[in-house]
Amino acid sequence: MLGFLLLILAAGVFLISTRWEGRAPSLSLEPNLSLLGRTNTFQITASDEGTGLKSLRAEIRQGKRTVELLHESYPEVRRRVSKTLHIDPRALHLQEGPGLLRLEARDRSWRGEGNIASLERPIRIDITPPSLRILFRPPPPAQGEARLLIYSSSEEIPRHGILVGDLRFPGRSIPKKRLAAFFAVPLRIPSATPVVLQGEDEAGNRSRVTLATTIHRRNRRRTHLWMDPPFLLRVVREFQEQDPSLPDDPLEAFLKINRDLREKTHRRVWELCRNSEPRKLWSGPFLRPKGVRETSTFGEDRVFVFQGKGVDQQDHMGVDLASIVNAPVRASNRGRVVFAGEMGIYGQTVLLDHGLGVFSMYGHMSRIDVETGQMVDRGTLLGRTGSTGLATGDHLHFSILISGVFVDPQPWWNPTWTDLLERSLKGENPPPKAQGSSH
Ligand SMILES: [Zn+2]
Repeated sequence: MLGFLLLILAAGVFLISTRWEGRAPSLSLEPNLSLLGRTNTFQITASDEGTGLKSLRAEIRQGKRTVELLHESYPEVRRRVSKTLHIDPRALHLQEGPGLLRLEARDRSWRGEGNIASLERPIRIDITPPSLRILFRPPPPAQGEARLLIYSSSEEIPRHGILVGDLRFPGRSIPKKRLAAFFAVPLRIPSATPVVLQGEDEAGNRSRVTLATTIHRRNRRRTHLWMDPPFLLRVVREFQEQDPSLPDDPLEAFLKINRDLREKTHRRVWELCRNSEPRKLWSGPFLRPKGVRETSTFGEDRVFVFQGKGVDQQDHMGVDLASIVNAPVRASNRGRVVFAGEMGIYGQTVLLDHGLGVFSMYGHMSRIDVETGQMVDRGTLLGRTGSTGLATGDHLHFSILISGVFVDPQPWWNPTWTDLLERSLKGENPPPKAQGSSH
């Protein structure tokens, strides 16, 4: 009898000591937000090793008002609960300004109403998107051309720039509290592609201004590149030495180089152009070498002909300039060497960053006299022309790129164009009559 009583007592002590535990649950918030915009997603995680969780609550307090975001009770023992919350302050009728986010988790302990863990975070609610204003509207966008947009924002926006379809061109801060974005329209983009200015504030509120809904088509010249067997053998052999996985058959190997390696090269150039100096390094028109023949223009629709048959088609993404063999290659403007070396189909190549997303590229060189990281001035000798890579003969392949997108170099040699850009960047152009407004 006594033994039985002792057993009950022991069981009671055990129950009380476990159910009477005093360890509070743990609580966490991910991400550690302090600013709420129009749409917010965060995750609350609560756990309790002792008696388990009994309830979880999340609320926002603003003045005397409390808005409940979550309130759950758990009839079954739960050691861990993770909840993703999507908060729209407008739907909850929260006001802009400060508030307090409060989380609370209770466990099933018999102590009081359970052990309580709470987490309080001062927050600020900002549901006003930035107001974007166009200060300089460029000419309508056209395939294969670069444009510059100058704009301003009513508040600081950490993320902004131009979207050409899915392509993103980052904007940068320029003097006089203005923002500037160079953007490019790819040669083959459909003409119904929208061009949009987008700005996002710290709270994630976004504004968009449509700049154009149609893109001017470019008249593209079709040209034929006749390849004879000696040419094909010479070029293919050079690439086969570098890449033993290329097919033995010269035509097959050529097609692989002209398609796959071309694409791979362009992807690499794109990657190299993703980061650019946040300020303009160039000034004045870009330098065009003297005494050269333009043997191929930008955007040519090139058909490769072998033994009387068109075997491939590719777009020419630069201008070919030929003069004497091993002619000097000079930097077209001030900039930084971001690449100097072997670059796929372009052979020995130099890539210069001129700042604000503007780049120039020099291909098929026979020798390179500069190094990556080096600053060069307009006219600095970069090396000598040659026929390395996929080249029919000694010439310079010259390209201009905007954030990795090839554009026609012609306007960049023209002082009228570079003057317009420089005056716009300085803020010397009158603002457009029709002001852009955000929506
Ligand atoms: Zn070329």
